[in-house]
Amino acid sequence: MTTELLSRNGVLRRQGGLREYVSYSRLALWLSCPLAFKFRYVEGISSPPSPAAFLGKRVHASLETFYRHRQLGVALDFPDVVRRLYDSWDAAVADEGIRFASVEEEKNLQQQALTLVRAYLQMLPRNEGQPLAVEVSVEADLVDPFTGEDFGIPLVGVIDLVLAENAGPRVVDFKTAARNQTPLEISHELQLTAYAYLFRHNTSQEEAALEIRQLIKTKLPQIQFHPYPARTDYHFRRFFAVVRTYLDALDSGNFVFRPGWTCGTCDFRNHPCRDWCG
Ligand code: SF4
Repeated sequence: MTTELLSRNGVLRRQGGLREYVSYSRLALWLSCPLAFKFRYVEGISSPPSPAAFLGKRVHASLETFYRHRQLGVALDFPDVVRRLYDSWDAAVADEGIRFASVEEEKNLQQQALTLVRAYLQMLPRNEGQPLAVEVSVEADLVDPFTGEDFGIPLVGVIDLVLAENAGPRVVDFKTAARNQTPLEISHELQLTAYAYLFRHNTSQEEAALEIRQLIKTKLPQIQFHPYPARTDYHFRRFFAVVRTYLDALDSGNFVFRPGWTCGTCDFRNHPCRDWCG
């Protein structure tokens, strides 16, 4: 089943129904606050991305362009990447429905995106492996590897980058961050495990390593590479325990509010969260 949702800015968005697929972003929002999940995915309330989220998407798009060319044996230099980022900027603004407070805010954000991408390209290891896959959409049936239980629903995701290395494939995810803070592995465990599951089921081979590459928006941008080992049975058991509980929650339709640090950036904080009475 597919539902069509009209976002606040009037853009018609097509979005899979709740029982159509599981994704890491759905799991993450449900874990952080079931009520916010309900507003977003059950009631279909959406809003344009924040300037910070928009910046992250533009940086991702630039790195995608860079690596897609590299995959084809074409080495883009920084001016090429800059031109493509400028050329696609206005269309992305219109597509996402984002409104800037001022022209200056938009220019600053554009400059910040360019500065981050330049810093990333300057930091690239000379011996980085060849891209095997770039920004690839993948899907795999969710079948518990320990019990054989077929959950009857696929897991979907988009893997930013897979690099060929001597030890085997490295699955990479890009993140933009506001602060210089080493990511805790447990904070990213579900996402890394989801990508490992998708990678294995779409290639019939195991990843040699996973990595989060952080582009940090400090005044002097910083680029950090955080590698993690291949996933083990331990990670997959924990991942499937979460998926099972998530699917049970969908069945029960019980989505309570879970106030916490994420309320500070929640689009639903004033309305409709305040109107919710259980
Ligand atoms: S404001 Fe907080 S409690 Fe309310 S929906 Fe958002 S995250 Fe949940």
